[in-house]
Amino acid sequence: MELVCPICNSLASYIVKCPFCTSKMESQGAIQDYFDDYSPYLDKEITEKLDGVASEQCLHIFFCPQCQKDKRIGIDKILM
Ligand SMILES: [Zn+2]
Ligand SMILES: [Zn+2]
Repeated sequence: MELVCPICNSLASYIVKCPFCTSKMESQGAIQDYFDDYSPYLDKEITEKLDGVASEQCLHIFFCPQCQKDKRIGIDKILM
């Protein structure tokens, strides 16, 4: 048994409505994937904070194409 994110493992989808315009927000993937490209530029403190969150929750980024805003949502991991 291990804790896995249901979204990263395609076990569930998550519909997020934009709090500003109620459009359906687009999933941009998990934040750790998102930051992989940029990780050389991240300072250590941010990386550590991300790691702290990652143990229980998987942070996903959702983007509203209408408002051009993004939102981070912590997805509870489930035991598999
Ligand atoms: Zn995830
Ligand atoms: Zn919006």
